Amino acid sequence: MEDCLFCKIAKGEIPSQKVFENDEILAFKDINPIAPIHILVIPKKHITSLAHIQKEDEELIGRIYGAINTISEEQGFKQDGYRVIVNCGKNGGQEVMHLHFHIIGGKKLGTKIAT
Ligand code: AMP
Ligand code: ZN
Repeated sequence: MEDCLFCKIAKGEIPSQKVFENDEILAFKDINPIAPIHILVIPKKHITSLAHIQKEDEELIGRIYGAINTISEEQGFKQDGYRVIVNCGKNGGQEVMHLHFHIIGGKKLGTKIAT
């Protein structure tokens, strides 16, 4: 997708602080972290949002959760725990229209996940 920020990051056209990469998934540090650990995990393939997932994408989504598990292990926060958030669409507060999974951690998070 032209003019998609996260497609450009996936292609290396815009720099990012990578924490994990394979042929179909990339994880990098959020530029404006809301917690000590704030990592974004994206499919390299352009998928606009959770609402745009096709049947053929479902196994990829499963592998993204596998990558999140690997990242938590490699980065040393698996034991302490963390939160995964996916904002979807206007009411979900999604600002970048390329599916991404926020990994938030490094501190004790509140029990109310959203307002
Ligand atoms: P969302 O509101 O769920 O669409 O989240 C978009 C996230 O992307 C925000 O947390 C931003 O801080 C983050 N972000 C925007 N531009 C960049 C960038 N160039 N590199 C890393 N993170 C970014
Ligand atoms: Zn994209």
